[in-house]
Amino acid sequence: MTFNEFSLDPRIQGGIKNAGYVTPTPIQEKAIPLVLQGLDILGMAQTGTGKTAAFILPILQKLLNGPRNRVRALILAPTRELAEQIYQAAVELGGRTGIRSASIYGGVSKNPQLTAIKRGAQIIVACPGRLLDHLGERAIDLSQVEMLVLDEADRMCDMGFLPDIRRILSYLPRKRQTLFFSATMPKEIRSLADSILKNPQTVQIGITAPAETVSHALYPVSGELKKPLLFAILEKTATGRVLIFTRTKHRAKSLAAQLSQRNYRVAALQGNMSQNRRQDSINGFRSGKYDMLVATDIAARGIDVSEITHVINYDMPDTVDAYTHRIGRTGRALLTGEAFTLVVKEDAPVVRDIEKVLGAPIERRSLADFDYGVSAPVAQSTGKRLAPRRGRRY
Ligand code: AMP
Repeated sequence: MTFNEFSLDPRIQGGIKNAGYVTPTPIQEKAIPLVLQGLDILGMAQTGTGKTAAFILPILQKLLNGPRNRVRALILAPTRELAEQIYQAAVELGGRTGIRSASIYGGVSKNPQLTAIKRGAQIIVACPGRLLDHLGERAIDLSQVEMLVLDEADRMCDMGFLPDIRRILSYLPRKRQTLFFSATMPKEIRSLADSILKNPQTVQIGITAPAETVSHALYPVSGELKKPLLFAILEKTATGRVLIFTRTKHRAKSLAAQLSQRNYRVAALQGNMSQNRRQDSINGFRSGKYDMLVATDIAARGIDVSEITHVINYDMPDTVDAYTHRIGRTGRALLTGEAFTLVVKEDAPVVRDIEKVLGAPIERRSLADFDYGVSAPVAQSTGKRLAPRRGRRY
């Protein structure tokens, strides 16, 4: 299939060419015709599948005709980074249409945002908190919005934005087209979707399986050898930016400290850190100051770093959804990524569940030249043997 088949306006086709897209991704293939028909969408797809263009392109097409002096499409996103990314996509793809976009999120001055709106933006990409500030000050009029997009709804819910979203909805007309995207569909998300969508068409990409560009591998290992195995994998694998997940905050902190001792440029990201320190970790990871980030699931919710090449589950996540979320951070549409998971015997039930969703067994790997036979590693610096302890937790 080609983009020509959507019969988009030549100005939008120009934007697509500009962005370098040649073939629509599966979600674009499925969602674009439905959105163009004016239908509500329940899209189950994670980041990296091309979902941004799947909603931006038909929005641009629909806004080409009609008034230019009002906000006609609102896109809500959980994080500044994602909002900025969607805004950039709207600017790039809509560059030749004359349709204006504005982004709205906290942590930066309100004035440039207000100026962009006053100049006449038809598309607003916003994080809920700052948008509500503007709405409270009557700086934005959403009463003529025709299209609403909720992107990464599950993350917005995790971040506590549900009440804010409901308040924002009260500013919008009831008669509108709503597009709802979420990588996972837990109960509360399903009920939010049910309450705001009208006869939605479900667009499901790979159920909730991780992006297809990611190759997965399991490294079976005993609990005692997890850490030496991780160090050995890092030494032997050509990695770019690596995101490592641990089960607890404490484990994230101590593992980051030990990697740092081994001269890796690494930061931790866990819930016991102040907001400033967390932001420093994320910014440093994005800018390349750090090559590695050791994080817990909750703390990693806000991360949107496109160049992640490897996700390593130092600890297996508890659920398939958590696995999908973690892996969704690598393997974006144009890149490929690898996901390594260190598994111990107790992880077998979750592995089975993940393989069921993937529809195929995950490759088991063992690292060449790694000594799986010893029960405790030899401490490199002193040559002393570390005492093997049952149930030892690193
Ligand atoms: P998204 O899932 O929307 O965050 O998109 C992930 C990445 O894929 C972004 O860098 C997009 O620019 C890129 N992308 C989106 N659609 C296409 C396409 N049809 N062909 C190639 N790359 C694409």
